[in-house]
Amino acid sequence: SLEMKKIQKWYGGLHVVRDFDLYVDPGEFVTFLGPSGSGKTTALKMIAGFEQPTGGDIMLGSRSIVDVPPYERGIGMVFQNYALFPHMTVAENVAFPLKVRSVAKAETEQKVRRALDLVKMGEYRDRFPNQLSGGQQQRIALARAIVFDPSLLLMDEPLGALDRNLREHMKIEIMRIQKELNMTVVFVTHDQDEALVMSDRIAVINEGRLVQVADSNNLYYNPKNRFVASFVGESN
Ligand code: ATP
Repeated sequence: SLEMKKIQKWYGGLHVVRDFDLYVDPGEFVTFLGPSGSGKTTALKMIAGFEQPTGGDIMLGSRSIVDVPPYERGIGMVFQNYALFPHMTVAENVAFPLKVRSVAKAETEQKVRRALDLVKMGEYRDRFPNQLSGGQQQRIALARAIVFDPSLLLMDEPLGALDRNLREHMKIEIMRIQKELNMTVVFVTHDQDEALVMSDRIAVINEGRLVQVADSNNLYYNPKNRFVASFVGESN
């Protein structure tokens, strides 16, 4: 489980994340949905450990992680600009998080194979990133993020750089993998349709505040205020 307790973030005089209280169940898919600049990425970065909260606490299971360095949090991450290592093959890219953790060779090989199979990229293991399409690179980024069995997977606009068809396809693939591994996911998007289709619950964010946290049906039919009604009701 993940819990954000009264999380605050100030950048100088700017209050970017205000009083976030959120509990995410094990195996739950929660989406931060909000307009540009609402604070979604900043909230995610604090969970990942790339930004320090100005106040509040973040729990992963029973432990507070705010003082734990990013790579010791056991959290997998996928971002919009996939950032694969260009000089490494697909297999080497996926193996990287295991190498950092000094996992033995045989276990590494087995986990890399499993992760590549899961994203249906087993045949591409010896290619380099520049020999792959955007969608394929994103699959490899996903394989790399889950190869070490993270207790939590964070995704920040992972479909943003893909064209419409590929985006539809990857939506379904991400949902399949999440269910297959029963993984806890926090997903960031400004796309209402994406959020409504993929999430168990959606946390609607506006101007740094969690406006409403609810499942798709409730958000759609019982929006808490006009912002939620107009933002969630908007279609692209
Ligand atoms: P987008 O969908 O455009 O990525 P977002 O909801 O993810 O937006 P954030 O990136 O979290 O929004 O930014 C929230 C606010 O914090 C914005 O006003 C932004 O300009 C500001 N901000 C973000 N990072 C910094 C920083 N390092 N220093 C100062 N201000 C920042």
